[in-house]
Amino acid sequence: MRKVSDTVESVIVAIDGPSGTGKSSTSKAVAAELGLSYLDTGAQYRAITWWMINNGIDTDDPAAIASAAGKPVIESGTNPLAPTISVDGADAAGPIRTQEVTSKVSAVSAVPEVRARMTGLQRTIAAAAEKGIVVEGRDIGTTVLPDADLKIFLTASAEARAARRSGELKGKEASGLDATREALIKRDAADSSRKTSPLAKAGDAVEVDTTELTLSQVIECVVTLVEEKRAAR
Ligand code: C5P
Repeated sequence: MRKVSDTVESVIVAIDGPSGTGKSSTSKAVAAELGLSYLDTGAQYRAITWWMINNGIDTDDPAAIASAAGKPVIESGTNPLAPTISVDGADAAGPIRTQEVTSKVSAVSAVPEVRARMTGLQRTIAAAAEKGIVVEGRDIGTTVLPDADLKIFLTASAEARAARRSGELKGKEASGLDATREALIKRDAADSSRKTSPLAKAGDAVEVDTTELTLSQVIECVVTLVEEKRAAR
């Protein structure tokens, strides 16, 4: 692991892109290698979705979601080696990864009141990260942290994304490659077409197509980009 001297200025890195492009693995590894904090904003949207389901809120009813959006207390631990997520004090890391949450998260995260709440939380966490932070999501470079020092937009073919995601699900809730690909495409379409802060590449983001790259190559590429940014200051 590289040593980050205390004299190095803090750096904010935004990593956006659709599901299955390697955002989480890349973001965690880059943060760990550079001594930065790490925030998984998808986990926060999943956490609020899990809370809505547990509290009997109809996830097809935007008005009901909007009026409950301020209620759950969502906390994120930002150590890239052991990130945590809790809702009202309860560990939510496992339950937020179920297929039920995955199938409902796009509808919940499309509600403007939910986005406003999560965006506020994310900005507060980023501002508190003394040495800097890697924040991953869908709207980080465009909306949450438009002044980030470096913006990365990860992409990959639908086939590569489905293959990676179905590998991750193996042994948990294994579904076929075709079903995984269809679910991914549906979720990305919903995330890209919502009115409030859709999944989008910021004009000043560097696009990295990960289809033909190994995870180590993607990590190395992003670490190099961060170091180049720092050197240019
Ligand atoms: O990254 P992950 O697949 O866990 O994200 C789950 C969902 O959370 C996304 O499909 C999207 O609906 C929502 N999300 C979002 N904005 C973000 C991060 C995630 O709307 N910044």
